[in-house]
Amino acid sequence: MPSELRFAAMPPLALYIHLPWCVRKCPYCDFNSHLAPESNLREVGIPIHAGMQRAAGEQGFAESVPIDLQRRYLNALVADLDQQLPKIWGRKLYSIFIGGGTPSLFAPELIDELLGAVRARLGMPQSGEITMEANPGTFEQARFEGFRKAGVNRLSIGVQSFSDSHLQALGRVHNSGQAVAAVRSAVALFDEVNIDLMYALPHQNVEQALADVAQAVALNSTHLSLYQLTMEPNTLFAAKPPPLPDDDTLIDIEEAVHRAAKAAGFEQYEISAFAKPGHRCQHNLNYWGFGDYLGIGAGAHAKISYPNRIEREIRHRNPMAYMEEMEGAAQPLEVRTLAVKELPFEFMLNALRLTDGVPESWFVERCGRPLSDLQKALKLALNKSLIETQPGMFKPTALGFRFLNDLQEIFLAG
Ligand code: SF4
Repeated sequence: MPSELRFAAMPPLALYIHLPWCVRKCPYCDFNSHLAPESNLREVGIPIHAGMQRAAGEQGFAESVPIDLQRRYLNALVADLDQQLPKIWGRKLYSIFIGGGTPSLFAPELIDELLGAVRARLGMPQSGEITMEANPGTFEQARFEGFRKAGVNRLSIGVQSFSDSHLQALGRVHNSGQAVAAVRSAVALFDEVNIDLMYALPHQNVEQALADVAQAVALNSTHLSLYQLTMEPNTLFAAKPPPLPDDDTLIDIEEAVHRAAKAAGFEQYEISAFAKPGHRCQHNLNYWGFGDYLGIGAGAHAKISYPNRIEREIRHRNPMAYMEEMEGAAQPLEVRTLAVKELPFEFMLNALRLTDGVPESWFVERCGRPLSDLQKALKLALNKSLIETQPGMFKPTALGFRFLNDLQEIFLAG
């Protein structure tokens, strides 16, 4: 049977690596993160004292994942990667993202080995973006220097707030002073530094949210990710929600923080992403542009195109089950081929998040399907003034951006 997909070339290829452990589980977090085996903070959901510091002689956060376990996990990652290679022979990597969990709990030597193993197997341009997530609670100058030497060239720091009382309400393990010190050090060492900030925090008002953005701007990061705190299912906050700002205050806060970031020279290029000119995150742009990505590590997702199909993969979420799997047959837990009728929604779910939109030709290039697959849905979106009629581009209108879920859902029907 002839293939229903036709690719002129394979989409750009990125690599996501998941390092799953954290010092403690934050009460709002629904990521695949697991308590570090030797964490000295086993309680979940109990506010941490904002001035919490390591007592003399007490185990540090950075030692929370025993080195033997780090090595075992690294071996599993390499086995996982080896198993992927036949699927992407001849293709070069575009970017690497080491996320978590708290990847900065891993020793710099192990990150160096990990990136060495990737480079030995896959080509990547010298200038390719290699991002690593880090938490201020695990900050030590020497570790950041070690990550830089290992080849990481972009650091993404999970600050969330510079207010001690909000950090405490979010159950974070760091305080404001540690956040400032971590960002200062990152900015001195890395050309590309992202700060994650959350807004609409418990009892937060507009002035407090603006103070967080002002502090981030003053620290000279190149990128800001501004997320609204939401109550995700299966989190401690979903079961016991904290007192959040009301809807009017939430809108005021969101508009104010977006305005402040833009006034400071950051361009909004995605719902939550703001960058100084020339500093957009290449790895995330590849996701939003419906590029391919390998995903290795516990719970990692992958999307890989073949000449006749596009597949999504998911791995075991539990780190122990993942390592056992990789020490044996090394297979993803689940592999699913996307149906042709799913592709319009799959593509638009990502592409419409971008404020500049994406070229129409990307649908043809990255889904292997003709533009006629989108005609019915596009007409409906145009009639509702949710999408612009810019020639050669798919771009949400201001209304479409505001009601993005409604716009994306139009493409569910094909
Ligand atoms: S540090 Fe990040 S990944 Fe870990 S529990 Fe907190 S929010 Fe989740």
